[in-house]
Amino acid sequence: MHQYKGKLIVHTGSMFSGKTSSLEKDIKRFAIAGYDTVAFKPSLDTRYTESEIVTHDNISLKAVLVDNIDDIMNYCKEHNPSVIGIDEVQFLGGGLPKIVESINFLLDKDVTVIVAGLDMDFTGQAFEIVKELMPIADYLYKHHAVCVKCGTDAWVSHRKIKDKERVVIGASNEYEPLCRRCFRKEKEKEEAILNKNQVSFEELGELK
Ligand SMILES: [Zn+2]
Repeated sequence: MHQYKGKLIVHTGSMFSGKTSSLEKDIKRFAIAGYDTVAFKPSLDTRYTESEIVTHDNISLKAVLVDNIDDIMNYCKEHNPSVIGIDEVQFLGGGLPKIVESINFLLDKDVTVIVAGLDMDFTGQAFEIVKELMPIADYLYKHHAVCVKCGTDAWVSHRKIKDKERVVIGASNEYEPLCRRCFRKEKEKEEAILNKNQVSFEELGELK
């Protein structure tokens, strides 16, 4: 596994595409190979409260909850891990330039950095941090869920509820993976409903 020293591995894609499982699988392989590994999870992602992930084959992986990139850098300074994973990187605090700079710093120190994160939000807009990390990755994997409408590779996580917040944590049942085509159809349907409501409001106005 020494060929991955100082390399950046990025797992991205929509929700339900298996990004986190891929990150865990990578970390596990490094652990088997005898590397000192650790996985960080932004504490914003409250689905995780454990400090350890124990896989089916009883290999325990250290998982540390962090708020921001400073927490990760402080941990690395203290413990010197040779392989780090960052799950749900789009939730990590600390600011975009600092996160990129810190990851580059770790790579220069020969640390292997594996990140998993959403490529786009529910509107199809890129998550900035993933957008920055994708081109500088040594290994880039785009994972796909299955479109719940037509069964082809999904493209985006469509939000079924009407909520303007960019991130609704732990509400995975409020999202569905859709391909580009089915996403467009859903958007058209939503816009049609919206327009219809507006018309009826106008009509109400005229009735007064
Ligand atoms: Zn589809």
